[in-house]
Amino acid sequence: MDEIRNEDRRPTRSPASPFRRLWWGLKRGVKELLLWSLYWSGAPFAHTAFFAAKKTVILCYHTASDEPTPAYPNNVMRATEFRRQMSYLKRHRSVVPLEECIARLREGRGRGAGSVALTFDDGYKSCLETVVPILKDHGFPATFFVMPGCMDDGKGKWDDVLYFSMGSFRKSLLRARRKEVAALKRDLEEAARNGWEKASAEALLSWEDLKTLRGLGYSVQSHSMHHLYLSAQPSADQQYEIDESKRRLEEVLGEPIQFLAYPFGAADSYTNETKALAEKAGYEAALTCEQGYLEDSTDLFSVKRMGLSADMPFWKFKLILAGFFF
Ligand SMILES: [Zn+2]
Repeated sequence: MDEIRNEDRRPTRSPASPFRRLWWGLKRGVKELLLWSLYWSGAPFAHTAFFAAKKTVILCYHTASDEPTPAYPNNVMRATEFRRQMSYLKRHRSVVPLEECIARLREGRGRGAGSVALTFDDGYKSCLETVVPILKDHGFPATFFVMPGCMDDGKGKWDDVLYFSMGSFRKSLLRARRKEVAALKRDLEEAARNGWEKASAEALLSWEDLKTLRGLGYSVQSHSMHHLYLSAQPSADQQYEIDESKRRLEEVLGEPIQFLAYPFGAADSYTNETKALAEKAGYEAALTCEQGYLEDSTDLFSVKRMGLSADMPFWKFKLILAGFFF
């Protein structure tokens, strides 16, 4: 690897000023209106049907569950909604392993045949309890990105712990259905007694769970050691997060780890240095959470995905698959 230059260490996007944030808010509003109009015009679906022009896309989920889960609420999709999305996929698209999409990318044929790959970040235990049975029902392959450091130290996922301890969980309490509130409250009180870290740790998959996932044929890959904002870490810490997660997963699972998903995955969450470190560590590709479809020329170390959050309406999901989301 060449020497890392200073400009390689800069985030690919600089921090935002309040004015810029306001501008982004306005743009987001206009974008929502455009997407909504596009959907109701029916044009994307007519285009897809007429030209049979489907775009290859990697979908990025976190988990699905109907149980109160100590995880960032927008990461936890309702099981019924997740099943609805999988049923739609089954009817309209071909779901392939992530490995197949990356192999095509390596050959410069990233656009492929318009297939879809499913990925799940952060390694929540509810993936095994709720997501996997639904995937099995549909016969879909999937890849789970996990953090070995969080699994080993018993402290859970720091950003979830921070979110809860700041009291923001009240929002999801307000959104919860009436019958869930008592259970949620009981769980939260229990969690507060035992500490948020323990609750968060228990919401993550265990090593045994990972072996079960592998046994069922699902792919398990690296999401770094501790889910840190890599671009904000010194070089040595970034390298540790990237190298050690690969080594630890390979040690326990006894097979090569090929892919890294950058934690948070936004354009400013990784740098050119991060990409170089991932390549040097021996990963074959690294995935972001920047929204986008696969192109023939997609960079193997900043592969875009389409994120599906719990509050995303179904029409947006359909628009993503029609290849018209932006
Ligand atoms: Zn993550």
